[in-house]
Amino acid sequence: MPNIAVFIEQRSGSLKKVAWQMISEARKITDAHGGEVWAVLLGEAADAAAEAGKYGAHKLFTAGGDNLATYNSEAYGAALANFCKSNNPDLLMVGSTAMGKDLGPKVAAKLECGCISDAVGLTFDGGFEFRRPVFAGKCFVDLTSSSAMTVVGIRPNAFMLNEVGAAATAEAFDAGIDGLELKAVVKSVEAATGGKVELTEAEAVVSGGRGIKGPENYQLIEKLAEALGAAAGASRAVVDAGWVDYSHQVGQTGKTVGPNLYIAAGISGAIQHLAGMSSSKCIVAINKDANAPIFKVADYGVVADLFEVLPVLTDEVGKLKS
Ligand SMILES: Cc1cc2nc3c(=O)[nH]c(=O)nc-3n(C[C@H](O)[C@H](O)[C@H](O)COP(=O)(O)OP(=O)(O)OC[C@H]3O[C@@H](n4cnc5c(N)ncnc54)[C@H](O)[C@@H]3O)c2cc1C
Repeated sequence: MPNIAVFIEQRSGSLKKVAWQMISEARKITDAHGGEVWAVLLGEAADAAAEAGKYGAHKLFTAGGDNLATYNSEAYGAALANFCKSNNPDLLMVGSTAMGKDLGPKVAAKLECGCISDAVGLTFDGGFEFRRPVFAGKCFVDLTSSSAMTVVGIRPNAFMLNEVGAAATAEAFDAGIDGLELKAVVKSVEAATGGKVELTEAEAVVSGGRGIKGPENYQLIEKLAEALGAAAGASRAVVDAGWVDYSHQVGQTGKTVGPNLYIAAGISGAIQHLAGMSSSKCIVAINKDANAPIFKVADYGVVADLFEVLPVLTDEVGKLKS
């Protein structure tokens, strides 16, 4: 009967989709084997209980206060570790996001328990087994943890959303951090994305590679992305060249995306790029080289010059939308 705690990531009150994906998967396990799914929210966010319940959480545990208003790894790490000490979940799931990658190992270190990062699969058969990609996604390893409790980081979009329930019962818990003297304090947060769609949350992504030839042409990617309501991504060649900011990089050393639609324009399909996008549901590749490796993973391939295809595609999408 495993009890599974799921960390609900919020930034400025906005909740991350990966939390609902983790709850959906956790609920499948507790439905089959007993136990409960506990969503854990630090800081304030409206609708968290309704949303967490919708995807299958039995309870939502919340803690607020000044130290938890914005993410601070020391305060959040202590609060989450204290939650686990008081409630003894068998598993704590955190998203493999920038926040989760910082937080998960910190909590595991405080609890002196096992920590598995970047998992894409989770099964339970008396104990948990975790699957994670290695060698840039060329193969997978299945891992178990020998500690009573384990912290696992889950890649965004590794699991499907599944709506099951009603609102979860909400319960405040004592995070045990009153009087904690933080060594670093977050004074303000300045969002870099400027209202554009966040890559790891996006339902559709349009990415440009070295084939766009220069920074002045990245607007072709942005225009198609805007027409589709998609996020704009890039290969490492493009960000290394300084044509667009590093936050757009998709791949092994960039962001991992798994949207319903991924359009790769002028991207060759190096293994390190595929590591960040090959789990996308539908991949469309536009490349003038018919032998480009990207076509091996593409559902639809357009062998053509991106400078001819992208403006036409953007126009057609615009017409359909209007
Ligand atoms: C440790 C390590 C980590 C890495 N991490 C990442 C990562 O996270 N993400 C990542 O992307 N890469 C990563 N790389 C780099 C990766 O190996 C490739 O070098 C990179 O992905 C290539 O980018 P690209 O496909 O844009 O460029 P290229 O490989 O140069 O491909 C450009 C493509 O554009 C096509 N093209 C050119 N002109 C046109 C046109 N007019 N119309 C249509 N198509 C055109 C060409 O046919 C070609 O296929 C990593 C490498 C290493 C060693």
